[in-house]
Amino acid sequence: MRVRAYRFRAYSSKTTARVLETQLEAACKLYNTLLHAEQKEYEKNKHTMSRNELRQLALDLRKQNPEFQVLYSQVTQQVADRFYEARQRFFDGLANKPREKKPHRYLSLVYSQKGWKLSNRREAGRGKNKKKKARLYLSKIGFFTLIIHREFPLERVSQVCIKMYPSGRIYVIFTVEEPETQEQALDEPAKVVGVDLGIEKLATLSDGRYLENPKPLERSLERIRLLQRRLSRKKFLSGNWFKSKWRLAKEYEHVKNLRRDLFFKLGVLLAKDYDVLVLEDLDVHGLIQKGVTRTRRLRLYDSSFSEIRALLEWEFRKRGKLVFPVPAYNTSRECFFCGRINKDLTLADRVFVCPECGWTVDRDLNASLVLPKRAGWVPSVVPVELRPIPPLPSLGLRRHGEVMNQETPSVRTG
Ligand SMILES: [Zn+2]
Repeated sequence: MRVRAYRFRAYSSKTTARVLETQLEAACKLYNTLLHAEQKEYEKNKHTMSRNELRQLALDLRKQNPEFQVLYSQVTQQVADRFYEARQRFFDGLANKPREKKPHRYLSLVYSQKGWKLSNRREAGRGKNKKKKARLYLSKIGFFTLIIHREFPLERVSQVCIKMYPSGRIYVIFTVEEPETQEQALDEPAKVVGVDLGIEKLATLSDGRYLENPKPLERSLERIRLLQRRLSRKKFLSGNWFKSKWRLAKEYEHVKNLRRDLFFKLGVLLAKDYDVLVLEDLDVHGLIQKGVTRTRRLRLYDSSFSEIRALLEWEFRKRGKLVFPVPAYNTSRECFFCGRINKDLTLADRVFVCPECGWTVDRDLNASLVLPKRAGWVPSVVPVELRPIPPLPSLGLRRHGEVMNQETPSVRTG
């Protein structure tokens, strides 16, 4: 079974939004209380609490403390689960030790099978403005109006997550379990594409095409820089500071939506033309930990590689096509032609020149060619020149609108 998520924009009254905010604060406090309790328990008795013990502790805390009673009981348990999973990831060496959460970072609540109800599905508006709406009731919070822009199997929903973004927008994410798509048997020869993700160019394909940072994205990034400068001039925690902060959050979400839209479309484009996608098995975590310089690390976060990868993989897997992650080590320094490692290549070099055989090509193109080679496919024709992918349709036309007609792959939220 694989997990698929459907995200919908939700609207509520101001009162309900405020209730949600209060509950998020309570959930955050509960999370931190659990964290401290766990730490104490470990120091005292050298005992690591199990999932059930944490759940029970959360329920006990809720019984004792009126502040936590605002939360629905299953939500309380889920807060314990969230802490448990964060700790497990730390034990497995996948994440840092769970730390105290800041209230402005604790943004979502999760309901499992109980405590919510979707009703009053209806069509509203006319012509272009026609929308499918529905009413969602969340126990202890209240009612939300959802814009149901796509169908989803309601009877298979395993959990409902409500998330408040820093811009104040609210989304509801339904998680659905679906059977795995069968992988297609490959007719030889399969069409293979290597994709190198980067910072200068968002993606370089082994067929010589590349995806630039599109103009709307560039403009948005510029605006973010401007808004950040403005924010830094405001008095900390003043009214104007909050206003600037909110504007910045909105712009960030816009960039995120643009990017997601772009990569979903790139994914569709590639999945139509190719059977196999070869990607760097990029250990983003490792890279961030051992990252070369601070700026490079920040930029890595910025282009959120792991999300981009998840989106591309999703479009291939959905169609039963193959995704091949290959070791990322030295992909950008290996010569596609003779396999020699070019040790002198620095991050600043945009062109790859092999000291051994003299093969000269764009650095990212070389990397995207090395990828399929590592997976065992050698491209028969090697592109000589790079050409940009023409703008993907409808990109950036909706300035502050939502990019919604898409499903979320199993990227963790909250
Ligand atoms: Zn060479």
